[in-house]
Amino acid sequence: MSACPAATATPVSAADGPLPVLGCDVRVPLVTGGEVPYAALDYAASAPALQRVWDDVAAYAPYYGSVHRGAGHLSQLSTDLFETSRADVARFLGCRPGDQVVFTRSTTDSLNLLAAVLPADCRVFVFETEHHAALLPWRGAQVTCLDAPCSPEHAVEILERALADRAPYGPALVCVTGASNVTGELWPVRELAAAAHAHGARIVLDAAQLAPHHPVDIAELDVDWAAFSGHKLYAPFGAGVLAGRADWLRDAEPYLAGGGASRAVTRRPDGALDVEWHTTAARHEAGSPNVIGAYALASACRALTEAGFEALVAREQRLLAAVRAGLAEVPEVGVLSLFGADAPRVGVLSFVVEGWDSAEFAAALSAEYGIGVRDGLFCAHPLVRTLLGGDPGECGGGTAAVRVSFGAGTPDEHIERFLRA
Ligand code: PLP
Repeated sequence: MSACPAATATPVSAADGPLPVLGCDVRVPLVTGGEVPYAALDYAASAPALQRVWDDVAAYAPYYGSVHRGAGHLSQLSTDLFETSRADVARFLGCRPGDQVVFTRSTTDSLNLLAAVLPADCRVFVFETEHHAALLPWRGAQVTCLDAPCSPEHAVEILERALADRAPYGPALVCVTGASNVTGELWPVRELAAAAHAHGARIVLDAAQLAPHHPVDIAELDVDWAAFSGHKLYAPFGAGVLAGRADWLRDAEPYLAGGGASRAVTRRPDGALDVEWHTTAARHEAGSPNVIGAYALASACRALTEAGFEALVAREQRLLAAVRAGLAEVPEVGVLSLFGADAPRVGVLSFVVEGWDSAEFAAALSAEYGIGVRDGLFCAHPLVRTLLGGDPGECGGGTAAVRVSFGAGTPDEHIERFLRA
Protein backbone atom coordinates (compact mmCIF):
# COMPACT_ATOMS: atom_id res chain seq x y z
CA MET A 1 0.00 0.00 0.00
CA SER A 2 1.07 3.60 -0.50
CA ALA A 3 3.81 4.97 1.65
CA CYS A 4 2.99 7.72 4.12
CA PRO A 5 4.41 11.14 3.18
CA ALA A 6 7.72 11.52 4.96
CA ALA A 7 7.08 12.67 8.52
CA THR A 8 9.75 14.86 10.08
CA ALA A 9 9.22 12.99 13.33
CA THR A 10 10.65 14.82 16.32
CA PRO A 11 12.60 12.21 18.23
CA VAL A 12 11.08 11.27 21.55
CA SER A 13 13.35 10.26 24.32
CA ALA A 14 12.85 8.37 27.52
CA ALA A 15 15.57 10.42 29.18
CA ASP A 16 14.77 12.34 32.34
CA GLY A 17 13.41 15.42 30.62
CA PRO A 18 10.05 16.56 29.34
CA LEU A 19 8.89 15.44 25.90
CA PRO A 20 8.63 18.37 23.47
CA VAL A 21 5.06 19.72 23.43
CA LEU A 22 3.32 22.67 21.81
CA GLY A 23 2.59 25.80 23.81
CA CYS A 24 5.79 25.86 25.85
CA ASP A 25 6.98 28.99 24.05
CA VAL A 26 3.74 30.93 24.59
CA ARG A 27 4.49 33.94 26.80
CA VAL A 28 1.80 35.42 28.98
CA PRO A 29 1.67 38.88 30.59
CA LEU A 30 1.56 39.10 34.38
CA VAL A 31 -0.47 41.69 36.32
CA THR A 32 2.68 42.46 38.25
CA GLY A 33 4.44 43.44 35.00
CA GLY A 34 6.57 41.54 32.53
CA GLU A 35 5.76 38.19 31.05
CA VAL A 36 6.64 34.54 31.57
CA PRO A 37 6.35 31.32 29.55
CA TYR A 38 2.90 29.79 30.06
CA ALA A 39 2.90 26.92 32.55
CA ALA A 40 0.18 24.46 31.53
CA LEU A 41 -0.72 22.55 34.68
CA ASP A 42 -4.15 21.45 33.51
CA TYR A 43 -3.22 18.27 31.68
CA ALA A 44 -6.19 16.40 33.15
CA ALA A 45 -8.55 18.64 31.17
CA SER A 46 -6.53 18.67 27.93
CA ALA A 47 -2.83 17.95 27.60
CA PRO A 48 -0.72 19.93 25.13
CA ALA A 49 -0.03 18.12 21.87
CA LEU A 50 3.31 16.41 21.53
CA GLN A 51 5.49 18.13 18.94
CA ARG A 52 5.97 14.69 17.43
CA VAL A 53 2.19 14.31 16.93
CA TRP A 54 2.00 17.74 15.35
CA ASP A 55 4.85 16.87 12.97
CA ASP A 56 3.14 13.63 11.96
CA VAL A 57 -0.14 15.42 11.34
CA ALA A 58 1.54 18.23 9.40
CA ALA A 59 3.22 15.66 7.18
CA TYR A 60 -0.05 13.89 6.44
CA ALA A 61 -2.77 16.56 6.63
CA PRO A 62 -2.17 18.23 3.25
CA TYR A 63 -2.59 14.89 1.51
CA TYR A 64 -5.89 13.64 2.85
CA GLY A 65 -8.52 12.08 0.66
CA SER A 66 -11.81 10.28 1.22
CA VAL A 67 -11.73 7.23 3.47
CA HIS A 68 -13.15 3.83 2.46
CA ARG A 69 -14.64 5.32 -0.68
CA GLY A 70 -12.24 6.54 -3.31
CA ALA A 71 -10.11 4.57 -5.72
CA GLY A 72 -7.54 7.36 -6.07
CA HIS A 73 -4.08 7.38 -4.57
CA LEU A 74 -4.84 9.86 -1.76
CA SER A 75 -8.07 8.09 -0.86
CA GLN A 76 -6.16 4.87 -0.55
CA LEU A 77 -3.48 6.60 1.49
CA SER A 78 -6.11 7.97 3.88
CA THR A 79 -7.84 4.62 4.19
CA ASP A 80 -4.52 2.98 4.85
CA LEU A 81 -3.58 5.53 7.53
CA PHE A 82 -7.00 5.27 9.17
CA GLU A 83 -6.82 1.49 9.42
CA THR A 84 -3.15 1.52 10.43
CA SER A 85 -4.10 3.96 13.18
CA ARG A 86 -6.74 1.51 14.38
CA ALA A 87 -4.14 -1.25 14.50
CA ASP A 88 -1.70 1.02 16.37
CA VAL A 89 -4.34 1.83 18.98
CA ALA A 90 -5.18 -1.88 19.34
CA ARG A 91 -1.50 -2.56 20.00
CA PHE A 92 -1.24 0.36 22.45
CA LEU A 93 -4.19 -1.02 24.43
CA GLY A 94 -3.10 -4.66 24.33
CA CYS A 95 -6.30 -5.71 22.60
CA ARG A 96 -7.17 -9.41 22.33
CA PRO A 97 -7.75 -11.14 19.00
CA GLY A 98 -11.30 -10.34 17.95
CA ASP A 99 -11.53 -7.08 19.91
CA GLN A 100 -12.80 -4.06 18.02
CA VAL A 101 -11.41 -0.54 18.10
CA VAL A 102 -14.10 2.02 17.31
CA PHE A 103 -13.04 5.60 16.67
CA THR A 104 -15.32 8.06 18.44
CA ARG A 105 -15.14 11.76 19.29
CA SER A 106 -14.04 11.36 22.93
CA THR A 107 -14.35 9.26 26.08
CA THR A 108 -17.81 10.73 26.61
CA ASP A 109 -18.80 9.63 23.12
CA SER A 110 -17.27 6.18 23.64
CA LEU A 111 -19.23 5.55 26.84
CA ASN A 112 -22.42 6.82 25.21
CA LEU A 113 -21.77 4.39 22.38
CA LEU A 114 -21.43 1.54 24.85
CA ALA A 115 -24.63 2.68 26.59
CA ALA A 116 -26.39 2.52 23.22
CA VAL A 117 -25.41 -1.12 22.61
CA LEU A 118 -26.25 -2.59 26.05
CA PRO A 119 -28.29 -5.79 25.81
CA ALA A 120 -31.91 -5.65 26.94
CA ASP A 121 -32.42 -5.49 30.72
CA CYS A 122 -28.75 -4.77 31.38
CA ARG A 123 -28.03 -3.36 34.83
CA VAL A 124 -25.24 -0.80 35.18
CA PHE A 125 -23.10 -0.37 38.31
CA VAL A 126 -21.08 2.77 38.73
CA PHE A 127 -19.42 4.43 41.73
CA GLU A 128 -20.63 7.89 42.67
CA THR A 129 -17.01 8.98 42.41
CA GLU A 130 -16.92 8.81 38.62
CA HIS A 131 -16.61 11.65 36.13
CA HIS A 132 -20.02 12.60 34.71
CA ALA A 133 -18.97 11.01 31.40
CA ALA A 134 -19.05 7.66 33.18
CA LEU A 135 -21.95 8.42 35.53
CA LEU A 136 -24.54 9.72 33.11
CA PRO A 137 -24.64 7.92 29.74
CA TRP A 138 -26.66 4.88 30.94
CA ARG A 139 -30.06 6.43 30.52
CA GLY A 140 -31.98 3.43 29.17
CA ALA A 141 -30.63 1.05 31.81
CA GLN A 142 -31.30 0.55 35.47
CA VAL A 143 -28.34 2.20 37.16
CA THR A 144 -27.04 1.44 40.64
CA CYS A 145 -24.84 4.25 41.90
CA LEU A 146 -22.44 2.83 44.48
CA ASP A 147 -21.10 4.65 47.55
CA ALA A 148 -17.66 6.22 47.48
CA PRO A 149 -15.20 3.67 48.89
CA CYS A 150 -12.52 4.61 51.42
CA SER A 151 -9.86 2.25 50.04
CA PRO A 152 -9.25 0.18 46.91
CA GLU A 153 -10.15 -2.97 48.86
CA HIS A 154 -13.36 -1.32 50.02
CA ALA A 155 -14.24 -0.55 46.38
CA VAL A 156 -13.98 -4.24 45.52
CA GLU A 157 -16.10 -5.19 48.55
CA ILE A 158 -18.81 -2.68 47.67
CA LEU A 159 -18.95 -3.88 44.08
CA GLU A 160 -19.00 -7.57 45.01
CA ARG A 161 -21.86 -7.00 47.43
CA ALA A 162 -23.91 -5.02 44.91
CA LEU A 163 -23.39 -7.54 42.12
CA ALA A 164 -24.16 -10.51 44.36
CA ASP A 165 -27.36 -8.88 45.60
CA ARG A 166 -28.70 -7.97 42.20
CA ALA A 167 -32.01 -9.45 41.26
CA PRO A 168 -32.96 -10.61 38.78
CA TYR A 169 -29.56 -12.00 37.82
CA GLY A 170 -29.10 -10.83 34.22
CA PRO A 171 -26.64 -8.93 32.08
CA ALA A 172 -24.69 -6.29 33.97
CA LEU A 173 -22.01 -3.76 33.23
CA VAL A 174 -19.61 -2.09 35.65
CA CYS A 175 -18.09 1.22 34.60
CA VAL A 176 -15.01 2.35 36.50
CA THR A 177 -12.20 4.82 36.08
CA GLY A 178 -8.56 3.80 36.10
CA ALA A 179 -7.39 7.06 37.70
CA SER A 180 -9.61 9.73 39.23
CA ASN A 181 -9.77 13.06 37.43
CA VAL A 182 -10.13 14.73 40.84
CA THR A 183 -7.68 12.99 43.16
CA GLY A 184 -5.50 11.27 40.57
CA GLU A 185 -5.77 8.13 42.69
CA LEU A 186 -5.39 4.77 40.97
CA TRP A 187 -8.34 2.39 41.13
CA PRO A 188 -7.95 -1.40 41.53
CA VAL A 189 -9.04 -2.14 37.97
CA ARG A 190 -7.78 -5.72 37.79
CA GLU A 191 -9.49 -6.65 41.08
CA LEU A 192 -12.74 -4.93 40.08
CA ALA A 193 -12.65 -6.76 36.73
CA ALA A 194 -12.18 -10.09 38.53
CA ALA A 195 -15.10 -9.27 40.85
CA ALA A 196 -17.30 -8.25 37.91
CA HIS A 197 -16.54 -11.42 35.98
CA ALA A 198 -16.98 -13.64 39.04
CA HIS A 199 -20.53 -12.29 39.27
CA GLY A 200 -21.32 -12.62 35.56
CA ALA A 201 -20.95 -8.91 34.81
CA ARG A 202 -18.81 -7.08 32.28
CA ILE A 203 -16.62 -4.08 32.91
CA VAL A 204 -15.62 -0.99 30.95
CA LEU A 205 -12.55 0.97 31.98
CA ASP A 206 -12.73 4.75 31.70
CA ALA A 207 -9.07 5.22 30.85
CA ALA A 208 -9.30 8.96 30.11
CA GLN A 209 -6.94 9.81 32.99
CA LEU A 210 -5.04 6.52 33.15
CA ALA A 211 -3.92 6.09 29.55
CA PRO A 212 -1.84 9.31 29.41
CA HIS A 213 0.11 8.26 32.52
CA HIS A 214 0.28 4.47 32.59
CA PRO A 215 0.29 1.58 30.15
CA VAL A 216 -3.23 0.21 29.74
CA ASP A 217 -3.40 -3.45 28.72
CA ILE A 218 -6.96 -4.60 28.17
CA ALA A 219 -5.99 -8.28 28.09
CA GLU A 220 -3.82 -8.12 31.18
CA LEU A 221 -6.34 -6.08 33.18
CA ASP A 222 -9.05 -8.39 31.83
CA VAL A 223 -11.50 -5.55 31.22
CA ASP A 224 -14.10 -5.98 28.51
CA TRP A 225 -13.72 -2.46 27.10
CA ALA A 226 -11.59 0.62 27.55
CA ALA A 227 -12.31 4.19 26.49
CA PHE A 228 -10.05 7.23 26.26
CA SER A 229 -9.69 10.61 24.54
CA GLY A 230 -6.94 11.85 22.22
CA HIS A 231 -6.87 15.37 23.67
CA LYS A 232 -5.81 14.08 27.10
CA LEU A 233 -3.16 11.84 25.49
CA TYR A 234 -1.11 14.60 23.83
CA ALA A 235 -3.08 14.63 20.57
CA PRO A 236 -5.44 17.42 19.49
CA PHE A 237 -9.19 17.42 20.04
CA GLY A 238 -11.81 15.46 18.18
CA ALA A 239 -10.93 11.77 18.43
CA GLY A 240 -11.48 9.10 21.06
CA VAL A 241 -11.63 5.34 21.24
CA LEU A 242 -13.85 2.56 22.50
CA ALA A 243 -11.97 -0.72 22.31
CA GLY A 244 -12.90 -4.19 23.43
CA ARG A 245 -15.27 -7.10 22.99
CA ALA A 246 -17.01 -7.25 19.65
CA ASP A 247 -20.23 -9.08 20.55
CA TRP A 248 -22.37 -6.32 22.10
CA LEU A 249 -21.10 -3.90 19.46
CA ARG A 250 -21.86 -6.33 16.64
CA ASP A 251 -25.29 -7.35 17.94
CA ALA A 252 -26.68 -3.85 18.46
CA GLU A 253 -28.18 -1.33 16.09
CA PRO A 254 -25.58 1.14 14.78
CA TYR A 255 -24.87 4.10 17.07
CA LEU A 256 -25.14 6.35 14.01
CA ALA A 257 -26.98 5.20 10.92
CA GLY A 258 -25.71 6.20 7.51
CA GLY A 259 -23.08 5.59 4.87
CA GLY A 260 -20.03 3.67 5.98
CA ALA A 261 -22.01 1.70 8.59
CA SER A 262 -24.09 -0.12 5.98
CA ARG A 263 -22.80 -2.86 3.69
CA ALA A 264 -25.87 -3.05 1.44
CA VAL A 265 -29.14 -1.13 1.25
CA THR A 266 -32.01 -2.39 -0.88
CA ARG A 267 -35.45 -0.93 -1.57
CA ARG A 268 -38.12 -3.62 -1.40
CA PRO A 269 -41.09 -3.63 -3.79
CA ASP A 270 -43.31 -2.47 -0.90
CA GLY A 271 -41.13 0.61 -0.50
CA ALA A 272 -39.41 -0.47 2.74
CA LEU A 273 -35.62 -0.54 3.03
CA ASP A 274 -33.54 -3.62 3.80
CA VAL A 275 -30.22 -2.72 5.38
CA GLU A 276 -27.30 -5.01 5.95
CA TRP A 277 -25.03 -3.37 8.52
CA HIS A 278 -21.31 -3.96 8.84
CA THR A 279 -20.27 -6.24 11.68
CA THR A 280 -16.87 -4.54 12.08
CA ALA A 281 -16.10 -1.28 13.92
CA ALA A 282 -17.43 0.54 10.85
CA ARG A 283 -20.95 -0.40 12.06
CA HIS A 284 -20.73 2.44 14.58
CA GLU A 285 -18.69 4.90 12.52
CA ALA A 286 -21.22 6.11 9.96
CA GLY A 287 -20.32 9.20 7.99
CA SER A 288 -16.90 10.43 6.92
CA PRO A 289 -14.53 9.65 9.79
CA ASN A 290 -12.17 12.02 11.54
CA VAL A 291 -9.15 10.47 9.91
CA ILE A 292 -6.73 13.21 10.97
CA GLY A 293 -7.93 12.94 14.57
CA ALA A 294 -7.52 9.17 14.51
CA TYR A 295 -4.08 9.50 12.94
CA ALA A 296 -3.03 12.07 15.58
CA LEU A 297 -4.30 9.86 18.38
CA ALA A 298 -2.42 6.85 17.02
CA SER A 299 0.70 8.97 16.60
CA ALA A 300 0.48 9.90 20.31
CA CYS A 301 0.14 6.21 21.20
CA ARG A 302 3.26 5.42 19.19
CA ALA A 303 5.19 8.35 20.67
CA LEU A 304 4.41 7.36 24.27
CA THR A 305 5.31 3.76 23.61
CA GLU A 306 8.56 4.86 22.00
CA ALA A 307 9.40 7.20 24.87
CA GLY A 308 8.80 4.32 27.28
CA PHE A 309 6.20 4.41 30.02
CA GLU A 310 8.71 3.29 32.62
CA ALA A 311 10.74 6.46 32.17
CA LEU A 312 7.64 8.65 31.78
CA VAL A 313 6.10 7.30 34.98
CA ALA A 314 9.38 7.65 36.89
CA ARG A 315 9.71 11.30 35.89
CA GLU A 316 6.08 12.13 36.57
CA GLN A 317 6.25 10.49 39.99
CA ARG A 318 9.33 12.57 40.79
CA LEU A 319 7.35 15.73 39.94
CA LEU A 320 4.38 14.44 41.93
CA ALA A 321 6.57 13.80 44.99
CA ALA A 322 7.81 17.39 44.76
CA VAL A 323 4.24 18.72 44.55
CA ARG A 324 3.13 16.61 47.51
CA ALA A 325 6.12 17.61 49.63
CA GLY A 326 5.74 21.29 48.70
CA LEU A 327 2.03 21.40 49.49
CA ALA A 328 2.58 19.54 52.76
CA GLU A 329 4.68 22.49 53.93
CA VAL A 330 1.75 24.89 53.55
CA PRO A 331 -0.56 24.45 56.56
CA GLU A 332 -3.47 26.17 54.78
CA VAL A 333 -3.52 23.58 52.00
CA GLY A 334 -5.71 20.48 52.22
CA VAL A 335 -5.18 17.82 49.54
CA LEU A 336 -8.29 15.87 48.50
CA SER A 337 -8.05 12.11 48.78
CA LEU A 338 -10.40 9.18 48.92
CA PHE A 339 -7.89 6.42 49.63
CA GLY A 340 -5.49 8.29 51.92
CA ALA A 341 -2.74 10.86 51.55
CA ASP A 342 -0.11 8.34 50.44
CA ALA A 343 -2.30 6.41 47.99
CA PRO A 344 -0.69 5.86 44.59
CA ARG A 345 -1.84 8.45 42.06
CA VAL A 346 -1.00 9.90 38.66
CA GLY A 347 0.07 13.50 38.17
CA VAL A 348 -3.34 14.88 39.11
CA LEU A 349 -4.01 16.42 42.51
CA SER A 350 -6.79 18.65 43.87
CA PHE A 351 -6.66 20.80 46.96
CA VAL A 352 -8.36 23.58 48.87
CA VAL A 353 -6.63 26.55 50.44
CA GLU A 354 -8.01 27.85 53.69
CA GLY A 355 -9.11 31.45 53.37
CA TRP A 356 -9.20 31.32 49.59
CA ASP A 357 -12.03 30.88 47.16
CA SER A 358 -10.83 28.27 44.63
CA ALA A 359 -11.79 30.32 41.58
CA GLU A 360 -9.93 33.35 42.94
CA PHE A 361 -6.94 31.18 43.80
CA ALA A 362 -6.80 29.73 40.26
CA ALA A 363 -7.24 33.21 38.76
CA ALA A 364 -4.37 34.52 40.88
CA LEU A 365 -2.09 31.67 39.73
CA SER A 366 -2.82 32.71 36.17
CA ALA A 367 -2.60 36.49 36.59
CA GLU A 368 0.41 36.61 38.89
CA TYR A 369 2.41 33.55 37.81
CA GLY A 370 1.27 32.60 34.30
CA ILE A 371 0.12 29.18 35.55
CA GLY A 372 -2.98 27.48 34.12
CA VAL A 373 -4.82 25.15 36.53
CA ARG A 374 -8.48 24.26 36.86
CA ASP A 375 -10.86 25.05 39.68
CA GLY A 376 -14.41 23.88 40.34
CA LEU A 377 -16.09 20.51 40.69
CA PHE A 378 -14.34 18.91 37.70
CA CYS A 379 -17.45 17.27 36.21
CA ALA A 380 -17.48 14.94 39.21
CA HIS A 381 -19.95 16.75 41.45
CA PRO A 382 -20.87 13.87 43.80
CA LEU A 383 -17.20 13.02 44.39
CA VAL A 384 -16.03 16.56 45.08
CA ARG A 385 -18.97 17.16 47.41
CA THR A 386 -18.15 13.94 49.28
CA LEU A 387 -14.50 14.94 49.56
CA LEU A 388 -15.30 18.45 50.74
CA GLY A 389 -18.00 17.22 53.07
CA GLY A 390 -20.39 19.81 51.71
CA ASP A 391 -24.12 19.74 51.12
CA PRO A 392 -25.28 19.15 47.58
CA GLY A 393 -25.30 22.49 45.81
CA GLU A 394 -23.03 24.13 48.34
CA CYS A 395 -19.88 22.12 48.17
CA GLY A 396 -18.42 22.87 51.53
CA GLY A 397 -19.86 26.31 52.00
CA GLY A 398 -19.47 27.68 48.51
CA THR A 399 -15.91 26.60 47.79
CA ALA A 400 -14.82 24.05 45.27
CA ALA A 401 -11.25 22.86 44.73
CA VAL A 402 -8.17 23.70 42.68
CA ARG A 403 -6.65 20.97 40.53
CA VAL A 404 -3.05 20.83 39.37
CA SER A 405 -2.21 18.22 36.74
CA PHE A 406 0.86 17.51 34.66
CA GLY A 407 2.60 14.86 32.61
CA ALA A 408 5.10 14.00 29.93
CA GLY A 409 5.62 17.56 28.69
CA THR A 410 5.94 19.31 32.05
CA PRO A 411 9.31 20.94 32.74
CA ASP A 412 10.54 20.99 36.36
CA GLU A 413 10.34 24.78 36.24
CA HIS A 414 6.54 24.72 35.96
CA ILE A 415 6.29 22.69 39.16
CA GLU A 416 8.86 24.89 40.92
CA ARG A 417 6.93 28.02 39.92
CA PHE A 418 3.65 26.49 41.11
CA LEU A 419 5.14 25.65 44.52
CA ARG A 420 6.65 29.12 44.80
CA ALA A 421 3.23 30.58 44.04
N1 PLP B 1 -13.51 10.37 32.21
C1 PLP B 1 -12.63 11.02 32.96
C2 PLP B 1 -12.02 10.34 34.14
C3 PLP B 1 -12.29 12.35 32.64
O1 PLP B 1 -11.42 13.00 33.39
C4 PLP B 1 -12.91 12.95 31.51
C5 PLP B 1 -12.60 14.35 31.18
O2 PLP B 1 -12.12 15.12 31.95
C6 PLP B 1 -13.80 12.21 30.76
C7 PLP B 1 -14.08 10.92 31.13
C8 PLP B 1 -14.45 12.79 29.56
O3 PLP B 1 -13.51 13.00 28.56
P1 PLP B 1 -13.93 13.82 27.25
O4 PLP B 1 -14.32 15.18 27.73
O5 PLP B 1 -12.70 13.81 26.43
O6 PLP B 1 -15.05 13.10 26.65
